[in-house]
Amino acid sequence: SGNIICSLRRNLSSSSRLRSSMPAWVIDEYGNNGVLRFTEDATAPSVNSASEVLIQVHAASLNPLDISMRRGYGSNLLKLRRDPVSLGQNGGEFPIILGRDVSGMVLDCGSGVTHFKPGDEVWAAIPPWKQGSLAEMVNLTEYEVSHKPRSLSHREAASIPYVAATALSALVNAGGLCRNNCTNKRVLITGGSGGVGTFSIQLLKAWGAHVTVTCSHNAEGLVRGLGADEVVDYTAGDVATELGLLEKFDVILDNVGGDSEQWALGLLKSWSGAKYVTLVTPFLLNIDSMGLLEGAVHSGLNLHQKAITNMCNGVFYRWGFYAPDGPALDEVSQLVDAGKILPVVEDTFLFSQVPLAFQKVERGHARGKTVVTVA
Ligand code: NDP
Repeated sequence: SGNIICSLRRNLSSSSRLRSSMPAWVIDEYGNNGVLRFTEDATAPSVNSASEVLIQVHAASLNPLDISMRRGYGSNLLKLRRDPVSLGQNGGEFPIILGRDVSGMVLDCGSGVTHFKPGDEVWAAIPPWKQGSLAEMVNLTEYEVSHKPRSLSHREAASIPYVAATALSALVNAGGLCRNNCTNKRVLITGGSGGVGTFSIQLLKAWGAHVTVTCSHNAEGLVRGLGADEVVDYTAGDVATELGLLEKFDVILDNVGGDSEQWALGLLKSWSGAKYVTLVTPFLLNIDSMGLLEGAVHSGLNLHQKAITNMCNGVFYRWGFYAPDGPALDEVSQLVDAGKILPVVEDTFLFSQVPLAFQKVERGHARGKTVVTVA
């Protein structure tokens, strides 16, 4: 049976390599859900350089970013990143394929790829400037890809990569946390019931931190089940006052934004290296509204001014961003297979139901992730 599987994989691999088109959900303009269009004739990716890995998508998942990108969020910077020479050409980026998570199987590899081979089961978080996973195939570089946890189905695995890559980048690079320094660290996660929150709770508990979470009352059972030590219902009263009654924090991961910055920084321990990391930043919005140069300068000055003000109060203020990182996903894969991180799939949609999946995510109030099964 091993031979049959190998031969099937070889056939699939060579037939997909020859294909010039594939089924996908694309957008040809920015807008509401009506811009999502299914086609059998999207351009099929192929391996074009030594470091590329072509993946057959089995499952994808949606993030709030997909809703924002559908509306045009980040288009100025992403257009430049996709194709620096086409700057100024209106609409040159279309058709765009959304979907930032993939779990699937390797179909083909560039000559320099050393960690993967056709037939390997992999997962990845797809950078926003690349074509996404709401398609039959996706092309990534080796560095962005990781072996999928063996203990998860593709449907479950697709719920993790993008939120994991974001949480790791925010908590490790900006927050200074790692698996060896979390014991006795007190971490506050605002918006703990969503995709990033449900992953971060589990990661930080696996690393030995004490985790406090803010969420709505009906998410308390979920976040406690994932390991949260203390839970504050932000709908029950003044969340800042409630959190102010608790011991101060070493790190705050802010998944909510809005006015959180006004009160959250005061909850950090002063003069002990404590860090506030927010994922809700004005960076891309500024570039969208002011243009590349002015938006980048304005964002830089804004961040710098907040960082300096807060440094004077003895705490660090930082912005967190998703960063592609296959090796970091390898570590997550091990934690998943060790049973320390569970997928939190709230809803699953068929490939034919992609617009419904977008509607679900757009309504907000996520309790984990929304997944799309592709093949
Ligand atoms: P989700 O939509 O999955 O989760 C957000 C969660 O926050 C929901 O469960 C929501 O539930 C809850 N929530 C809303 N308002 C509050 C509040 N005031 N206090 C506490 N909880 C609240 O989003 P993600 O987890 O995927 O992402 C979190 C944020 O991070 C998003 O804004 C996203 O755009 C951003 N992000 C930024 C990235 C970057 O590179 N900078 C990368 C990834 C994400 P309910 O409303 O029912 O309470």
